[in-house]
Amino acid sequence: MEVGTEHAPALEAATTFADLGLDAKILAALDGMGYKTPTPIQKQAIPLVLSGRDLMAQAQTGTGKTAAFALPLLQKMIPHANASASPARHPVRALVLAPTRELAIQVHESVVTYNKNLPLRSTVVFGGVDMKPQEADLKAGVEILVATPGRLLDHAGSKVVHLANVQFLVLDEADRMLDMGFLPDLKRILNLLPSKRQTLLFSATFDDNIVGLAKSFLQNPLKVEVARRNTAAETVEQVVHKVKEDDKLDALVQVIKARDISQALVFTRTKIAADKLGRRLLKRGIQAATIHGDKAQLERLAALDGFKQGKMRLLVATDIAARGLDIVELPCVVNFELPYSPEDYVHRIGRTGRAGASGLAVSLVSHEEERLLAGIERFIKRDLKPVPLPEPAPVHVAAPAVVPGNDAPMAPARSGRRRAEPVCALLMPPARPAEPAPPSGQ
Ligand code: AMP
Repeated sequence: MEVGTEHAPALEAATTFADLGLDAKILAALDGMGYKTPTPIQKQAIPLVLSGRDLMAQAQTGTGKTAAFALPLLQKMIPHANASASPARHPVRALVLAPTRELAIQVHESVVTYNKNLPLRSTVVFGGVDMKPQEADLKAGVEILVATPGRLLDHAGSKVVHLANVQFLVLDEADRMLDMGFLPDLKRILNLLPSKRQTLLFSATFDDNIVGLAKSFLQNPLKVEVARRNTAAETVEQVVHKVKEDDKLDALVQVIKARDISQALVFTRTKIAADKLGRRLLKRGIQAATIHGDKAQLERLAALDGFKQGKMRLLVATDIAARGLDIVELPCVVNFELPYSPEDYVHRIGRTGRAGASGLAVSLVSHEEERLLAGIERFIKRDLKPVPLPEPAPVHVAAPAVVPGNDAPMAPARSGRRRAEPVCALLMPPARPAEPAPPSGQ
């Protein structure tokens, strides 16, 4: 059989997680997370994984794909769950490979919540941080290991982890792993695994490279597909504003204020542009952090954490750094610069409108980027007609608002004109008048 040509049968009958045959302890964990019904990829993949088939699943982050593989794998490992302290009783049985540290952490966080009522152990290992704590976890024994390829090979090389008992291999965001040059590492890892195992490959795209990877990694896989690679989620409202390059910062501020956006992920094409935008936002007193591949791991985690906790309003990111980020209820994505690849546009706007929630994707398009916009429109088969920037919402102020260092009056903005109003007044949380002023000198 040619790889990936056998489509899985339509399995629409299951409408609840209980219908899918999951254990009561897993169902209780899902209940605790507020999951009511399985998503389409979960409905399709869970029965197939339970039946033991290899899988090639085309699903983007945001479709619920993590649970689509994690839930049936936990179910299959229940017979091995034990509370013994002996590391020998906890060999690695499920190995999940992810392209980025952030995705690996996120996948592991999901595994921990789904697994919370079972005595199966799990951990996550990724590069850029001290190996020692990871070594301690691995030596104690874990049934589920989530890893980025390079760091996994480091641990395997120093014999801290043994992969001879792996029964389940998941390749998450396989397309991005190939884009990032992980193929040689993947092949090395494959050599450490038993050939008799179940393998699940998840990818946003199914191009020739992915099919080639599947040929060497999977056996007789079934193909499941939930969203075409060039389909942007229907739940995302896509808005385009034509803006001069020099006016983009003002436009960003105007959009966020007028639409009263609580948080947004803002994309630039390059690390340099991300740093520059981050600095300009900070200069204007706007709470923003920057995340990209040149940042130290701890800085990236701190930025992501701060953003998730709502400590900052904007997170400026490059495509690779933002890949796979799942920030619950992210209301808005801004393309400060359009990506060169239309596929990246689809990935970017997929950060919002997740698992059925509605989202907003705003693109600020300069004259120089019009060709990129045309490419995106062809790719997603949709016209993205530019609209004027939104007018600022009327400000109702009982008494004149005084923001330290910014006491210029608010002027209504006009599209394409520079603003004179205090930007930090727009983006800082409102001052709480009831609070006494801190004593001087503090
Ligand atoms: P993923 O595609 O795995 O990154 O999941 C995207 C988001 O959807 C995560 O925040 C999950 O917690 C959430 N999610 C996954 N499955 C469900 C479900 N069946 N119902 C509600 N939310 C879900």
